[in-house]
Amino acid sequence: MPGCLFCAIAAGDVPSDRVLETDTVVAFRDVNPQAPVHVLVVPRRHVDHLHALPADDPLTGDLVAATQRVAEQEGIAATGYRVVANVGPNAGMSVPHLHLHVLGRRPMGWPPG
Ligand code: AMP
Repeated sequence: MPGCLFCAIAAGDVPSDRVLETDTVVAFRDVNPQAPVHVLVVPRRHVDHLHALPADDPLTGDLVAATQRVAEQEGIAATGYRVVANVGPNAGMSVPHLHLHVLGRRPMGWPPG
């Protein structure tokens, strides 16, 4: 989608610190990390947010698989990690292209802010 930051990152037109890429998904480090591990798992195809992704779309499984691979690669699968998908303004979504935050390597509080 023209003007979409994460479309541009997925296409390689904007640089990012990539940790994983597949045919359908890229994962890269967040520029403003909120934990020692903070990776964004992003579909190459533009989807506005999680609520716009059909549950039976194969991309849904691709995003879950990529999230699990990132956690394994980053060494946080055994100790635990958090996955966050902000949807819309009340959740504080700032980049309108579906992404999963994968956060780990520190204990986290609950409830989130
Ligand atoms: P959200 O608020 O859920 O939409 O999350 C967007 C995230 O994208 C924030 O955590 C930002 O720090 C992150 N971000 C914004 N621009 C970039 C960028 N160029 N590369 C990596 N992460 C980014």
